[in-house]
Amino acid sequence: MPPIQRFWAICGLALSLALPVSGARAQAPASRAYVGSHPVPARAGGGYCSIEGIHMHTYVPDRPVLFQIVGDAYLFVGDPVPFGYRGPRTVFYGIHPVHVPLPVPPPAPIFCALPGPHYHPYAPPAGPDYVLEGGVAFYVGSPPPAPVVQRSHAFEAEYRPFAALRPQVVVKPPKGWRGTWWVAPPAAPTAKPPPVQVVAPSPRVVVAPPAPPAVVVAPPAVVVAPPAPPAVVVVPGSRKPGKWLKIKHKDWHKGGKWKEHD
Ligand SMILES: [Zn+2]
Ligand SMILES: [Zn+2]
Repeated sequence: MPPIQRFWAICGLALSLALPVSGARAQAPASRAYVGSHPVPARAGGGYCSIEGIHMHTYVPDRPVLFQIVGDAYLFVGDPVPFGYRGPRTVFYGIHPVHVPLPVPPPAPIFCALPGPHYHPYAPPAGPDYVLEGGVAFYVGSPPPAPVVQRSHAFEAEYRPFAALRPQVVVKPPKGWRGTWWVAPPAAPTAKPPPVQVVAPSPRVVVAPPAPPAVVVAPPAVVVAPPAPPAVVVVPGSRKPGKWLKIKHKDWHKGGKWKEHD
């Protein structure tokens, strides 16, 4: 953008900021102008943009609850610490007007609706609207409008994941403070490991092969046989009962024949 056009664009934005504002507007501004520092959406890289004054981006906030539209620009009104702000800071307690320098002072206060202790880069202005107790700023000025109080629930929800980053405040609130004492939400339950399922091992079926047939080797039977009778050679046929066969010695060498002898 040429310098002269950029000049008129900034002038136009400053003029629009000069118009009466009532805090939030129903529709988002046509431009993506920001006034003051602000968180950067995660989709644009995350972190915290520390540019002061009016500047432009190509994105819209990803936490619109924490922004007010002033003129045609987004104004971040929340605690910047959870989003990466590391600069000087002051502890505030409860709902209070924001004190971001604007090109044109708004006709009505713009509020930070965050309950409980939190940080801002700015210090509260001197005057009767604040009481400092132990360095903690308590707003005791005119009560915030009802829409601001209603919006505090949405603020609280946005910052619930960052409860651990809240400042620790132990002082008592001063007289005239009308806020509600903040109680830290319970710590998020730590994820428990999934229960270990003990599964009984399935019974193992072992099919044993059939046992081989038992082989019983009987001990050898001891048979005491009666002594064998004397061998008797019986020639079938011609022998008369009671006759034994004998071979006459004298007939042997003659190719003797079997003869019966008495
Ligand atoms: Zn920026
Ligand atoms: Zn605040």
